[in-house]
Amino acid sequence: MPKKYVYFYTEANKNLKQLLGSKGANLGEIKKLNILVSSAFTITTEACSYLLENNFIWSKALEKQVLINLKKIEKDTNSFFGNSSNPLLLSVRSGATVSMPGMMDTILNLGLNDNTVIGLFKKSNNQKFAYDSYRRFIQMFGEIVLGVSSKAFERVIDNLKSKKKIKQDVDLETEDLKEIITTYKKIIKKETKKEFPQDPITQLKLAINAVFKSWNNKRAIEYRLQNNIEHKLFTAVNVQAMVFGNLNSDSGTGVCFSRNPATGENKFYGEYMVNAQGEDIVSGVRTPQPISILKGKMKKQYFQLIKISKTLEKYFKDMQDIEFTIQNKKLYILQTRDGKRTPKAAVKIAMDMLDEKLITEKEAILRVDPESLEKLLHKSLDPKHINNSLILTKGLPASPGAVTGQIVLSANKAHEENRKGNKVILIRTETSPEDIKGINACQGILTKRGGLTSHAAVVARAMGKVCISSGQSLQIFENLKKVIINNRTFREGDYITLDGSTGNVYAGKMFLVNSCLSKDFQKLMILSNKYKKLEIRVNADTLKEAKIGLFFNAKGIGLCRTEHMFFEDDRINIVREMVLADNLENRQKALDKLLLVQRKDFVKLFETMKNKPIKIRLLDFPLHEFLPKQKKEIINLSIALKVPISKVNEKIKSLKETNPMLGFRGCRLAITHPEITIMQTRAIIEAAISVNKKLKSKIVPEIMIPLAGDVQEIELQKEIIIKTINQIFLETKTTIKYKIGAMIEVPRAALTSDKFARHIDFLSFGTNDLTQMTLGLSRDDSNKFLKEYIRFGIYKKDPFSSIDKEGVGQLMQITIAKALNKNKNLEFGVCGEHAADPESILFFHNIGVDYVSCSPYRIPIARLSAARAEILEETN
Ligand code: PEP
Ligand code: MG
Repeated sequence: MPKKYVYFYTEANKNLKQLLGSKGANLGEIKKLNILVSSAFTITTEACSYLLENNFIWSKALEKQVLINLKKIEKDTNSFFGNSSNPLLLSVRSGATVSMPGMMDTILNLGLNDNTVIGLFKKSNNQKFAYDSYRRFIQMFGEIVLGVSSKAFERVIDNLKSKKKIKQDVDLETEDLKEIITTYKKIIKKETKKEFPQDPITQLKLAINAVFKSWNNKRAIEYRLQNNIEHKLFTAVNVQAMVFGNLNSDSGTGVCFSRNPATGENKFYGEYMVNAQGEDIVSGVRTPQPISILKGKMKKQYFQLIKISKTLEKYFKDMQDIEFTIQNKKLYILQTRDGKRTPKAAVKIAMDMLDEKLITEKEAILRVDPESLEKLLHKSLDPKHINNSLILTKGLPASPGAVTGQIVLSANKAHEENRKGNKVILIRTETSPEDIKGINACQGILTKRGGLTSHAAVVARAMGKVCISSGQSLQIFENLKKVIINNRTFREGDYITLDGSTGNVYAGKMFLVNSCLSKDFQKLMILSNKYKKLEIRVNADTLKEAKIGLFFNAKGIGLCRTEHMFFEDDRINIVREMVLADNLENRQKALDKLLLVQRKDFVKLFETMKNKPIKIRLLDFPLHEFLPKQKKEIINLSIALKVPISKVNEKIKSLKETNPMLGFRGCRLAITHPEITIMQTRAIIEAAISVNKKLKSKIVPEIMIPLAGDVQEIELQKEIIIKTINQIFLETKTTIKYKIGAMIEVPRAALTSDKFARHIDFLSFGTNDLTQMTLGLSRDDSNKFLKEYIRFGIYKKDPFSSIDKEGVGQLMQITIAKALNKNKNLEFGVCGEHAADPESILFFHNIGVDYVSCSPYRIPIARLSAARAEILEETN
């Protein structure tokens, strides 16, 4: 039996999403619900993989299956492909498992040629429509399949329009369209050295190949990289009978959502255009009208649409994004899929659907992408300082949040400025998928054209960027690097402010405030707490971070990087003094100063965190981070230390390392200079004793030893720590409980964790260093080539953000198994950057980690991910 590459839409169902993409899979479901859907077939993602590997040479089986299914569409529609009196026309669209709006290609009106266009004219009784469709088809096919530049085609229309002194495409007469078609064909002949293909089957095969090929176009690859979508998922291709929204004024096309995708409000929402084809909306070239206008124009179809949207939502149990076409007052559904939504809408919809009993608690938790929660923390305009007299214009509020930034007029400029660390707002007439890099690099987007479902709006929402579309009274002069907004001129580099929640554009900088989190967000967090097993702690080195951690309900501090407490100006010199000291006496002097500073900091930290566990890591600074680099700094240091500049330079030179990340850092420094550990232990224990006394608390400080690779390093450090603590107990005539633990960052430590286990109370995986040392990848430099590695699939994701389960993960499992064998009471944590990565959290949950500790603003992500991990474990 040859492999099945093609499924007729009646064979499709939602369980076949991997194979048919979500569009293709859902077509079968819509049909089952007795909703009028245009006849179609889907070519599988496996065919995509096959064709990409085989240079787009079709197997006999594929060819045969496409032709058989084409016959089925002909039977369904009672029209015939290539027939000159009753032609069947097709759309050829991409459709991946995970929707990638606008990133791949689509071809409409396929099957038109010099003969079938006459058939279309006769069938529709509308000559202009027929020739306009043919004109559109040649242009689309020319650009997408034959690779002719869009500008060449646009120039032809623009020239004709200016010759005839008309403004709109719709004002072109049939004869004009015929003239355009002739010129288009000449352009194609000139550019490709071949005639425009008249044979519909040839057109179909080339179009299918081109759409499959678009899986690997630049913008699709970029989108997948940004959204962590696997490159090996591939796209399906949907071939569907055309219905025409551009037939007459009783026709139209649109996109609607069963709920508002920007706010999550349970209200029918969408846009449509009279006498238009789908691409007119998606590309943002024309600005559509709100769907409510349809009610006044075609009441029956409007209410039909609302009913269908509710039916689909109930069936799929999720908010639906539905594309429809009305042809001569007859409503067709072209596709439905779970709608993309803003993070705010995702949380609201999940919590509302839970209240409506449409979904369960567990389903509600699984509905929200943990990563997207970070975007909820977007800023808004400070209500106390809103100055309405600065409003320049009002556009459509396409993606919420507020942003102030400098104007840039191209994606490249946005990218360039972003690299310099500048915050920019990208202004475009409309965005095309080519702008994705620019959208990623900017803080906000303002477009002249396009509605709420245009490319800019959809992409900005998905990326959590502020976006205002259809900015009225906006004139863009890209070459002159200026824009005129409401008669005021702004140049690239000038500041404006966007409020993506109202659509207002303001002149200049505005005060912004951090978002306050909605009740729905709080509800989701409470719900997550109910299901999660992993404990969530915060990585906090400052009081501010500790307080944010507490605000997000962190159950303690999982990592306090003590070297980070020395970043400020007045302290960094004391550290430098210690590092540069060339005898014990001088080092001790610096340490005595540091003791005062550290003890004070720990007192505040203990007071803030009350009795919650706090893991304080002993100093682990790569020396190079703390040594002065610039001449001015070196001079300042020599003055502060009262030593000649030459001596400072000499010392800096002697401490210079070729490979500092594998150098004199972590406990290596403390083993060479035990006085550092003595000072830090003193600061920690004395602070805890004093706070316990003052607050009558029972703080149990936890001291963590970094970067050990051999148990003897732990033994040596532990001996110093305990000796110092006992000394303090004697001096203060007090005792307190404390814990000593180790970081697992060196592969050797992971492999010998059974030896560590006897000496310690806890192990914390420093997955940043563990990844660096296991993969032999520099934390500082590997980003130069990692992107390529990910593109080749050598790593599925950046191993510094998502744990490499096969390598680093295996070491973690070995560590836990060996250590538990020797000490059943050991506690295991993760405090590297992976601690807030949803996929890594799932893995940590499964291998028996007790807690994860992450940066403060990522705590909600970690909490939701931990709940999801538990639910996914239960359901598997
Ligand atoms: C780690 O290595 O994962 C870690 C938490 O330590 P640092 O990032 O400070 O090296
Ligand atoms: Mg580390």
